[in-house]
Amino acid sequence: MMQQFLRIKAKHPRDLLFYRMGDFYELFYDDAKKAAELLDITLTARGKSAGEPIPMCGVPYHAAEGYLARLVKAGVSVAIAEQIGDPATSKGPVERQVVRVVTPGTLSDEALLDERVDNLLLAICQHKNAYGIAYLDLSTGRFRVLEVSGEEALSGELQRLNPAETLYLDTITHPAVTARRGARAQPAWEFDVDGARRALNTQFQTHDLKGFGCDELTLAIGAAGCLLQYVKDTQRGNLPHIRSMSHESRAASVILDAATRRNLELDVNLAGGDSNTLLSVLDRCVTAMGSRLLRRWLHRPLTDIAALEARHGAIGALCADYGYEPARAALKPIGDMERILTRVALRSARPRDLTRLHSSLAALPQLRAALETCEAGLLRELCQQVGDYPGLCELLDGALIDNPPAVIRDGGVIAAGYDAELDELRQLSSNAGDYLLQMEKREREATGISTLKVGYNRVHGYYIEISRAQASQAPAAYVRRQTLKNAERFITPELKEFEDRALSSKSRALSREKALYEELLERLNEQLGPLQDTAAAVSELDVLANLAERADNLRLCRPEFCQEQVFEVTEGRHLVVEQVLEQPFIANSTALNERRRMLLITGPNMGGKSTYMRQNAVIALLAHIGSFVPATAARLAPIDRIFTRIGSSDDLASGRSTFMVEMTETANILHNATPRSLVLMDEVGRGTSTFDGLSLAWAAAVQLAREVQAFTLFSTHYFELTSLPQICPTMANVHLDATEHQDHVVFLHNIQEGPANRSFGLQVARLAGIPAPVLAAAREKLRELEQGAREPTVTARPGASPAQVDLFSAAPPHPVVSALEELQPDELTPRQALEKLYELKGQLD
Ligand code: ADP
Repeated sequence: MMQQFLRIKAKHPRDLLFYRMGDFYELFYDDAKKAAELLDITLTARGKSAGEPIPMCGVPYHAAEGYLARLVKAGVSVAIAEQIGDPATSKGPVERQVVRVVTPGTLSDEALLDERVDNLLLAICQHKNAYGIAYLDLSTGRFRVLEVSGEEALSGELQRLNPAETLYLDTITHPAVTARRGARAQPAWEFDVDGARRALNTQFQTHDLKGFGCDELTLAIGAAGCLLQYVKDTQRGNLPHIRSMSHESRAASVILDAATRRNLELDVNLAGGDSNTLLSVLDRCVTAMGSRLLRRWLHRPLTDIAALEARHGAIGALCADYGYEPARAALKPIGDMERILTRVALRSARPRDLTRLHSSLAALPQLRAALETCEAGLLRELCQQVGDYPGLCELLDGALIDNPPAVIRDGGVIAAGYDAELDELRQLSSNAGDYLLQMEKREREATGISTLKVGYNRVHGYYIEISRAQASQAPAAYVRRQTLKNAERFITPELKEFEDRALSSKSRALSREKALYEELLERLNEQLGPLQDTAAAVSELDVLANLAERADNLRLCRPEFCQEQVFEVTEGRHLVVEQVLEQPFIANSTALNERRRMLLITGPNMGGKSTYMRQNAVIALLAHIGSFVPATAARLAPIDRIFTRIGSSDDLASGRSTFMVEMTETANILHNATPRSLVLMDEVGRGTSTFDGLSLAWAAAVQLAREVQAFTLFSTHYFELTSLPQICPTMANVHLDATEHQDHVVFLHNIQEGPANRSFGLQVARLAGIPAPVLAAAREKLRELEQGAREPTVTARPGASPAQVDLFSAAPPHPVVSALEELQPDELTPRQALEKLYELKGQLD
């Protein structure tokens, strides 16, 4: 037995091996140790190997699903070896075989999946700085490829797709890939492009991959080949629902880097949870497939303005007269068609999948009717794509009983009246009793033997029993079967025939039923393509109706795209902050255009700077997924990328310090932002010493305004930067205000023109609970500093640090101040400006 175990295990070195023994799946050696720890089950031992006990643990087979779910969640793959031989007839150990490999990225079983989250398997191939990515959602058959260059772009895509399992070329060392949960290194030959082309063409039954727009993407094709092979290996069967793959062009989407996805808290908040995220506020989709689609939309805003306007139009039409309400009501009976269809394709659909598919198909006419009055091109198109399946509905209706059991194993799934043969077989097995009574009566009358009885036992089957006294009167046709003390038992040809039919009818009914079920799956598979299209259209209608409902209830407005270079938001709000606030949210407007490209935002901590910046990014993002936006009006030019440099978090996974992360993100922005990008810079330079920080923030701001020319919201606590608009006319100062009331700070949260004039640092510190003695000491120190400082001439303000006060204070001007004043940033490249600033810093040091 152990030899067989070791032989099978050798083929699955990286999976836990669930080795079926009777009613248990057993695990041995290191597998057992790992599973015992992950599942918190008892580790025991069985037998000995080389004098050492063999570690072992096990889980009961009927409860295996729950354990599997926990293991795959932990990123572990499990190979399941079943007994395929018959224990009664086999000599030696029963033969076992791996029948499936359950891996985190290749799940299709309903019990193992989170219904509102995509479950992706992803493969990455690399050549120099370029990466080919392929990903597959096995549970829906969505297969996409793309290519990106640079690690930053790669981590952005990984953050977006958040795969459950990642296969990567084993030469890749980037921790964003290798440290992922469910990451598996694969050797180079798995990514061989020629092999991949052949395998993909076989899968899609095509000549080449040109039709998918992927023919040139050799790196991505290599990744797709590796992925497909892996899925085939783990699924051990055909994958008919994977009908095509498509190229996800980066240019078609507004690019969001990894930091931006995190900072905007699209579907994960900064603490790693899913509450208070944009998705949590926006997602009221009726179906699970709708929720998954909305999440994908949020992560992949589009640049195709016509497509976005079509969505805006559809939402507008659904909002008119609350048209979304009947539509959403009509969506209620629709189940997770997408995933059900995949199980149909994999032949693993359960009876209840089919009844849900039936109720979904039956609800389609209602859905179309509900949308009839909504006038929008996109809605018309989608309704058409939804299609109609009266034939299939009738088929499923006739074939299945109303509340079928969970599995087909014990039958009782196919309805009476669907198949004459099945009905007859069932009749036979359930009517056996009646038939025997009739026969007994008939035989008794024919023979005149009063003690004649018809009976059954397990060893001899059916018999006619006659008492010993009357046994001699048995007709000649009766054949003796068994002699008892007081009776004789006989069999007749008629009874024998009945026995054959009755005994086998039950098992024949069951196998007939299974065959009918298979046939039903076959019939559904014939229409797999159109059914998948229907599921896609229904999901999209669900998302649109959801966005309409949200637009109505959250007071959103339709954004307008224009060719002019503007970003104008009237009375914008932050959707999530607004939800959690107890007080009313103060709406703030934003106006950026050719002449006013950058806002320098100052104001006290807690004043609302981050909220204001993020709300604008979220508004831009929502407009680009086709949603309405939280404002009373919004007019904007199409945006190609959104960048954010917000907050500071150590990137522990890659061992980078806060400052390093900050600078890496800033560098990425300076390199990649364009005049059509939206950039958010929150307090850049905070992670280092004042002068380093100030110099860097200064130079970055100048570069963004002059060279990059992106629309930029730049918040800063370096008051010195507020003089920048004097030299860079496309910059403007705005601030968030606060006032003091009886030594308390009151934040007004409304944005105003011009720089802030106070920092309220001590008041905020008090709010945060800094102990009174510390506050008193700080107040004392502040007074000292303010008195000690000479009267400032330029921009010093109460609360400025001594260094800042010194630097900008009155005559005789510090040499560095004179040098700064002489500086002509206009004529310097950013690099020269930085060097100059460093030089000055050296002098100060
Ligand atoms: P800052 O970035 O200036 O430190 P935040 O943007 O983090 O400030 O805002 C601090 C808090 O102020 C938020 O958590 C929120 O409770 C409140 N706030 C911010 N903006 C507004 C607003 N426009 N209306 C009402 N409350 C707001």
